[in-house]
Amino acid sequence: MAKKSKILLIYTGGTIGMVKDYKTGALKTFNFNKLLNHIPEINQLNCVIECISLKKPIDSSNMNPSNWVFLAEIIENNYLKFDGFVVLHGSDTMSYTSSALSFMLENLLKPVIFTGSQLPIGDLRTDAKENLITSIQIASSIENDLPIISEVCLYFEYKLYRANRTTKINSEHFEAFSSPNFPPLGESGVHLKFNKNLIFKPKVKEALIVRKTMASDIVILKIFPGIKEEVVRSILLIKNLKGVILETYGAGNAPNDKWFILLLKEAIAKGIQIINVTQCAGGSVIMGHYETSTQLQKIGVLSGFDITTESAIAKLMYLLGKNIPKNEFRILFESSLRGEITKIE
Ligand code: ASP
Repeated sequence: MAKKSKILLIYTGGTIGMVKDYKTGALKTFNFNKLLNHIPEINQLNCVIECISLKKPIDSSNMNPSNWVFLAEIIENNYLKFDGFVVLHGSDTMSYTSSALSFMLENLLKPVIFTGSQLPIGDLRTDAKENLITSIQIASSIENDLPIISEVCLYFEYKLYRANRTTKINSEHFEAFSSPNFPPLGESGVHLKFNKNLIFKPKVKEALIVRKTMASDIVILKIFPGIKEEVVRSILLIKNLKGVILETYGAGNAPNDKWFILLLKEAIAKGIQIINVTQCAGGSVIMGHYETSTQLQKIGVLSGFDITTESAIAKLMYLLGKNIPKNEFRILFESSLRGEITKIE
């Protein structure tokens, strides 16, 4: 019989483990051990599962970079002991956390699968069981003695995605996530199928490095028709601001008003990194395609190509945390580090 995979289940909180407070009617987090009692099916899986939980499980709206570091450290401290990791996380910020981890865990050679649910595990119609059981199966899938997945993924409602390509699209449907610019890495139906040509294949086998400095002096500036000069100015003048995700229209277009371009130019001159990311759900920034993005390109705004905003935030925090020279920053941000962008050459 094949050797049993060892999986570490990391519980951070989220709906999956919540119960209803009958006094207020609101959902609140509860004890993790009780959570596992709800899924005796887990014992039928051909793997050894150990669990670890945040001392105080949280609604993922309360996630922040310190929690990400804590999570990355759990993986780091248990990396050699386990074959794979499943992270139970609230769906609200799952795309942010999993994108962040995809950058923080350098040279990752093992699966890290994020999952959660729209209904608590104790609910009669819950989606938690399938999400959890299949995530464990994915994390323990091996071929020729090697894990099939060796990257950070997100599994939800029968689909396995590259985590840093995902975005939460629905707060009610079981299909809560989508990966608008990259196909799923796998699908669960009668059989568990992997799209092996899309899965990341590590070229070198080096020791895991966990980057723990995430610079959060950044902002998302979403433009809209009528955005005021004072607003843009006061955002760009924020003390210690290091980076801006500029959410633009369509293929990366923004107003070409003089004041707007000038404010961005001044910010760039001060060393602030500005990244052009589209507000569209799908598609890529192509700077220079329209006149309304030519100026942005000229003054040194970087292209996020088809990156999601969640992933752009994580990548910006990660690269700024590395304190690299300006030129190198541009090259790295505009390259695919973990499969997070598709570059149109
Ligand atoms: N508010 C919850 C959370 O993100 C929602 C969920 O788990 O789906 O923690």
